[in-house]
Amino acid sequence: MASPPPEKPSNFLRQVIERDLDHGTYSQRHWAGQPGDKAAHLAGTPDPARIRTRFPPEPNGYLHIGHAKSICLNFGLAQDYGGVCHLRFDDTNPEKEEQEYVDAIRDAVHWLGYSWEANGTNHDYHASNYFDFMYEAAESLIVNGHAYVDEQSAEEMRANRGDFGKPGVDSPYRSRTPEENLARFREMRDGKLPDGAAVLRAKIDMASPNINMRDPTIYRIKHAEHHNTGNKWCIYPMYTYAHPIEDALENITHSICTLEFEDQRPFYDWLLDRLAEEGLINTPHPRQYEFARLNLTYVVTSKRKLRQLVDEGHVSGWDDPRMPTIVGLRRRGYTPESIRLFAERIGVSKADSWIDYSVLEQALRDDLDPKAARAMAVLDPVKLVITNWAEVYGSDGYLDPCSAPVHPHSPERGRREFMFGKELWIERSDYEETPPKGFFRLFPGNRVRLKYGHVVECTGAVRDPASGEIVEVHAKLVPDTKSGTPGADAVKVKGNITWVGVADGVKAEVRLYDRLFAVPQPGAGDGDYLEEINPESLKILTGYAEPASEGMEAGDSVQFERHGYFVADWRDHHSHQTTEDEKGNTVFNRTAGLKDGWNR
Ligand code: ATP
Ligand code: MG
Repeated sequence: MASPPPEKPSNFLRQVIERDLDHGTYSQRHWAGQPGDKAAHLAGTPDPARIRTRFPPEPNGYLHIGHAKSICLNFGLAQDYGGVCHLRFDDTNPEKEEQEYVDAIRDAVHWLGYSWEANGTNHDYHASNYFDFMYEAAESLIVNGHAYVDEQSAEEMRANRGDFGKPGVDSPYRSRTPEENLARFREMRDGKLPDGAAVLRAKIDMASPNINMRDPTIYRIKHAEHHNTGNKWCIYPMYTYAHPIEDALENITHSICTLEFEDQRPFYDWLLDRLAEEGLINTPHPRQYEFARLNLTYVVTSKRKLRQLVDEGHVSGWDDPRMPTIVGLRRRGYTPESIRLFAERIGVSKADSWIDYSVLEQALRDDLDPKAARAMAVLDPVKLVITNWAEVYGSDGYLDPCSAPVHPHSPERGRREFMFGKELWIERSDYEETPPKGFFRLFPGNRVRLKYGHVVECTGAVRDPASGEIVEVHAKLVPDTKSGTPGADAVKVKGNITWVGVADGVKAEVRLYDRLFAVPQPGAGDGDYLEEINPESLKILTGYAEPASEGMEAGDSVQFERHGYFVADWRDHHSHQTTEDEKGNTVFNRTAGLKDGWNR
């Protein structure tokens, strides 16, 4: 009953959950239908969720691929084990909340394919709604002798905390009575003290080998307005105090976070044990489990750094297709399935490491290969002129209909149609006047097949007399070689090239992206990550694509044969002005090449 779906490999988190389900650790708990204290939950129904996890972003930026890992993990585990995952905006800092970020975070979770709605309840919460409880809990800790108001200066507190080799020294305020502490804490709450004049500290052990247990600060004074609670509070809880309480009020069972919180776990348990003893929270209380954060090569995964890239104009916005944000990856052509597949492949571990960007690209290819329609496109076009066209077909204007499967392995998806004619676009690199060894494409005297069309024999090229640049390549059609007609294979060729008809090709802006950073671990060592930006991460070309691409909508993926996976995009982000001529033209972003091109 508790085992995972067989195709999912096990990991330490699954083992913990399966053990808890087998032991029925949380099976007796009740749920109030919404977050609440012990009394509220006890008055509720048996919890319909077998486990509860949560994804708790701070709404101060757009989510990145690291957050996607956490989303897939938390929502995925809930899904697999009959649980519920809560979306919780961690807004306990009195900072301006930007609705833009809240909306973008909800969108990102939905787009990845997850939902916080379950059992008729919308589990979308704001941590600031728990301020009243957090305050009550702090008073309870004080009354029970587990917290005190410290009025040492910040320097004194730092000096008296000690360090790894040196135990801390008790504050002179540590022996205050609960009554004194309560009165002083209420003065803090009532705005009688300026910022920094006092803090509330948990009373644990100043000699603990874990510095986080040396009487950590749990409340500080900050005369600041909060977007949700306005000016009601001038004291705010510290993250390490707020987070366990948020989990407990929401009946979370497995609180999964990144490794840097490992040293906080003893305090997490200490706090919830005290609040449980004092009868304030539901039991058994949640437990914290840590996993290694995702580090992805050639990008940065920190909202602060990503914001700087946006603010300083190094990229066009949070959704620039080079950004490792979820909105950026989406505009780049990444699918939700490919990101979920990536998250599954990298798994979870307890050791920090770097994942190579190629792992993400391979997940994309594996997802799109069976799905994406095929098409031909010419990215760096030069004209190929069939000089004997009228001789063979009677007129220069004749167009010969050709077709190819929409997808080579799915004949039921039908065929795409396009026109062969006297003039075609081909890749500039498909012609060489003097071919290097092993070059089988166009050069004078050589025959190649224009894929899905005819065999032609190259006769030379025309150069611009001034620049010397090739403006036209010339060839003669070899009759009776049309693909799919009897005897077409009688003429053997070594080269097979892609093309687009001049008559029906669709002009397209093509954006080729390269790594955003020139080094695998931007900012590692002494480097300033801004100086490691790859100046050539975007190349914009004008090419031509098969007529079928005209009907594509922004977000549709296609595999351009030979060139890789592309996604239709909307104009405007990189080209600031759209000329009349460009209007209605399609824009394509290259999502990934056909093969791993990163280890060049
Ligand atoms: P950032 O430093 O980018 O702001 P954060 O951890 O401060 O990241 P939060 O909004 O607090 O951002 O994160 C929400 C959740 O996402 C947290 O539970 C956090 O553990 C998880 N998370 C953030 N970054 C990563 C990452 N690189 N890999 C895995 N999980 C991550
Ligand atoms: Mg944060």
